[in-house]
Amino acid sequence: MIGLGGPSLGLREKLAVWAQLSSGKLAQGAKVAEFEASFAKWLGAKNAVAVNSGTSALHIGNLALGLGPGDEVIVPAFTFAASANSIALTGATPVFCDVDPTYFTLDPVQVEKLITPKTKAIMTVHLYGQMSDMTALKGIADRRKLFLIEDAAQAHGAAIDDIPAGSWGDYAAFSFYPTKNMTTGEGGAITTGSDDLVRVSKLLRNQGMLERYRNEVVGLNNRMTEIAAVIGLAQLKRIDGFNAKRVRNAGILTGELSGLPGVQLPVARENSKHVFHQYTVVVDGDRDSFASELRSLGVDSSAYYPVPIHKLAPFASKESLPISEHLSEHCLSLPIHPSLSPSRVKRVASSVRKVLGA
Ligand SMILES: *Cc1c(COP(=O)(O)O)cnc(C)c1O
Repeated sequence: MIGLGGPSLGLREKLAVWAQLSSGKLAQGAKVAEFEASFAKWLGAKNAVAVNSGTSALHIGNLALGLGPGDEVIVPAFTFAASANSIALTGATPVFCDVDPTYFTLDPVQVEKLITPKTKAIMTVHLYGQMSDMTALKGIADRRKLFLIEDAAQAHGAAIDDIPAGSWGDYAAFSFYPTKNMTTGEGGAITTGSDDLVRVSKLLRNQGMLERYRNEVVGLNNRMTEIAAVIGLAQLKRIDGFNAKRVRNAGILTGELSGLPGVQLPVARENSKHVFHQYTVVVDGDRDSFASELRSLGVDSSAYYPVPIHKLAPFASKESLPISEHLSEHCLSLPIHPSLSPSRVKRVASSVRKVLGA
């Protein structure tokens, strides 16, 4: 079975964990600080604050911006629940917006229509490693005096107009969950150009303290461990290679499948670097039977995400967001992970052609 892949953990990661365990230093310390500096440098971001998950990065970022009850935050309906959860957890209201049918990211025209006097922020998601339309969204945010937030959990190394994901918004959140483009086990990071947001984020992740027992605000324990940080430092030496292989594998699939009727292929935005966290197609017919036929040919696949967020129980609403609803029903992500050789990717493609009857 050709699977959707997991993390690539080599000798570098294993030796780093062994050495760290041997040092006895497990909780946030020098390695976390080193990982923050290295991650920011690799990204081309001014600052990074490491935390224990991508969800925590979003939650802390939102709290640091001062979002709370009575505020509205516009967020795509076609994303992972964490985007909306991080808004709701502050007491603010997620306002669900439809996405673009070609790029699957927030549709700026729909965003404008949802702005009310209560709107405080736009949270966009660089879904599957594809940059959102940042020029348009930044234009709206600047004009309407709203915060711009990037959920960059799937977009390590993506860029548009040579400006990387993580440097467009007031802050961005990255995830290092094992399925993401790079991992720390569990982990996340906030990147921001604002020294103020760095300070508040560091307070919030650690009980409101920068110095022991000098609590300045009410805070959380969302610290990254030293073990996670050394895994991250090892992965940072390999992330460019991982991304290059994802892009190569995506190129092979697109080359083999383009022009076939019955399936819409992903396209990268102009002037952008797409890092293909997922290679997601939209199938015309029944997605689930397509996936099970593919599985019978030895190729695994998965629907990210099968329910749009505005239809999940905690957010259930009657509004209709037709593109998000269509994509949830017809999207299917195919294996392109960095451990797949070109010949295995070609087998994925030939299996898709078979299912399509091509
Ligand atoms: C993975 C993910 C998150 C959450 O990251 P965790 O590290 O799993 O908490 C948030 N948003 C998106 C779009 C994600 O894919």
